[in-house]
Amino acid sequence: LYLDLPFPPQGEGVALDADQMRYLATVLRLQNGDTVHVFNEAAGEWEARLEIQRKDRGQALLVAQVRAPEQPIGPVLVFAPLKRDATHLVLRMGTEMGVTRFCPVITERTNTHRINAERFRAIAIEAAEQCERLDIPLIDPLRPLTQLLAEWQGSRALYAGLERQESESVGVVPGDYGLLIGPEGGFSETERRLLNTHEAIIPISLGKRILRADTAVVAGLAQLAFRSSQ
Ligand code: SAM
Repeated sequence: LYLDLPFPPQGEGVALDADQMRYLATVLRLQNGDTVHVFNEAAGEWEARLEIQRKDRGQALLVAQVRAPEQPIGPVLVFAPLKRDATHLVLRMGTEMGVTRFCPVITERTNTHRINAERFRAIAIEAAEQCERLDIPLIDPLRPLTQLLAEWQGSRALYAGLERQESESVGVVPGDYGLLIGPEGGFSETERRLLNTHEAIIPISLGKRILRADTAVVAGLAQLAFRSSQ
């Protein structure tokens, strides 16, 4: 369970809010004294004992640290927000696959021009809990692709799903990197020109099929993770 507040010393309790209590007591059916695991970026993961004070109030008494905080290492994902469910899928799967920062961007063919940052973060937290990841990815505000490209540090590679072909040579990814996937309608000609001349962009292919944008995100992350481990 992710707890977004500073942890007290061992033996003391961290307060649990009504939603967390509902989840632990009603969904998971935990009882007073049961073991729960609580975590956040700064404290790492702790074994704790559940103390139920009321249906909607309780605390987690910290017993012992089971994992030290982890240094977040992983790609940045630049993507154009899709229809609601597909965007949620991108956030969930991206978190599971190690994305450390999500950068939603507006492209010429982006359909969704508003994001719900709070909902995005809640999905990332749920996914981190599910895959036992200790850090929660950062979620940038929505900005134009052109602005992101202007701000992107030149030395850091930004792999962009731009080509479609049978197969391509496999290379080693140097240092930390980003993946850029376009919207359902693809990149415009102007954007393609801009991307093809940007010093950080490395065009990649994810095969000869046209993948849906959410599928392309997962395929791209998997391919780059595999390549960087070579
Ligand atoms: N009609 C659009 C086009 O031809 O560009 C299709 C866009 S596709 C549904 C959405 C995004 O996924 C693309 O902008 C691209 O970044 C990525 N993508 C999909 N299939 C890909 C492939 N085979 N190789 C590389 N990127 C791909």
